[in-house]
Amino acid sequence: MRMLENISPKRVMAFFEDICGIPHGSGNTKAIGDYCINKAQQMGLTALKDAMGNVVIKKPASKGYEDHPAVVLQAHLDMVCERVENSSFDFEKSGIEIAVEGDYITANGTTLGGDDGIGMAMALAVLEDSSLKHPPIEALFTVDEETGMFGAAGLDAGLVSARRMINIDSEEEGVLTVSCAGGASVAISLALDKQKVNMPCYEVAVSGLLGGHSGVEIDKDRYNANILLGEFLKGVNAPYNIISIMGGSKENAIPAFATLKIATEYDLVGLAESFVSQKVKENEPDLKITVTKINNSNDGFSSAASQKITDLLYGLKNGVIKMSQSIKGLVQTSLNLGILRANDGQFTANISVRSSVNDEKISLINELKAYAAKFGATATDSGYYPAWEYLENSYLRQVMVDCFEQQFGKKPIVAAIHAGLECGLLSEKLNGLDAVSFGPDMVGIHTPNEKLSISSTQRSYKYLCKVLENL
Ligand SMILES: [Zn+2]
Repeated sequence: MRMLENISPKRVMAFFEDICGIPHGSGNTKAIGDYCINKAQQMGLTALKDAMGNVVIKKPASKGYEDHPAVVLQAHLDMVCERVENSSFDFEKSGIEIAVEGDYITANGTTLGGDDGIGMAMALAVLEDSSLKHPPIEALFTVDEETGMFGAAGLDAGLVSARRMINIDSEEEGVLTVSCAGGASVAISLALDKQKVNMPCYEVAVSGLLGGHSGVEIDKDRYNANILLGEFLKGVNAPYNIISIMGGSKENAIPAFATLKIATEYDLVGLAESFVSQKVKENEPDLKITVTKINNSNDGFSSAASQKITDLLYGLKNGVIKMSQSIKGLVQTSLNLGILRANDGQFTANISVRSSVNDEKISLINELKAYAAKFGATATDSGYYPAWEYLENSYLRQVMVDCFEQQFGKKPIVAAIHAGLECGLLSEKLNGLDAVSFGPDMVGIHTPNEKLSISSTQRSYKYLCKVLENL
């Protein structure tokens, strides 16, 4: 018996349940792509795959809409695979175990993949339903959005002719997103002298921080554990050798922990106490720095090298650089020191840079390069993705705002976000693209607590159909 059989919109739920049953983590999207193509062929529609594995399905206009401009319905094929601690769930082999709890569809101990399975399911339901009124439709399902938007970046743009696009990859009903930040990765690396160490050795652990997503929480005044470690090191007022540093695990996450191994005669316990009492604050009440005596180490960074690491970290810019002048509350430009490693003569810092203004992003990258050079370090940038800049005149946005008001009796929120969306890359690929992103309410995406609202999916699907009828 199928879990979602009796829940409407029935065809959307049927496709969603199928999708949940097919393993489709990032990097593992061949089967889900083939599923979409098979479904399209059963519907008698043209379906294509490009070299990246992106899928494009074309449905002709309904009667009377033949001369209306075509519209892209876009979603991504891959999902984030996270499971609860101690779970042995195998995302390569098993379909998601879904459950219904009140208004929510949830998964048993794993991510659900509502992000972005529900986007695909809605698009497939539109493709299948011959009773709908709509312009020509091109459904575009991209691979590997979650790990760096590689599908959108490598899309064979010749497969898509439409220049209006509804991206179904947002998580808040009532919010239409129309602009997002672009980004890049900067890696600072430096080889430094090693030295025999002959002072007592300690492990210093920064923990208890909130962390968060560097595109969503960078303006929430949260501490970055890597930056705090630099400030802590600045307070060591006696000779020291850094043995190793390990902070953060993802470039686009605000690091919640960092660990330092250090050799020194200095009173680190006293320093940790005064440091925490100075730094602890209302929104970071659990900041902790623990100092533990460890076995003596033979090798560390030389004193000069250790000082250099401290100075480099201490002076590094981090967090919000500029707020938007035109959109209240929007972070325009920021950076996040996500990953920090120092060990065995090698220092690296991985930074995620974001801006909704492409020129500002480039000047911030250049500034980081010049800063690194002062220390004899190299900074290389990669993983560039463009901003999705706000379009002054958008027909699609107007139609989507009007339809929303008709259905809900209030205005939607038209928003710009500091996180990345594929719309930026696709705007660069598809010249003159007019795009809007929307989606039903989801909670806890990218975590094992992810859930999808059923009632919101019902309203959102109805809304999508209404928008298509009006395009
Ligand atoms: Zn997504």
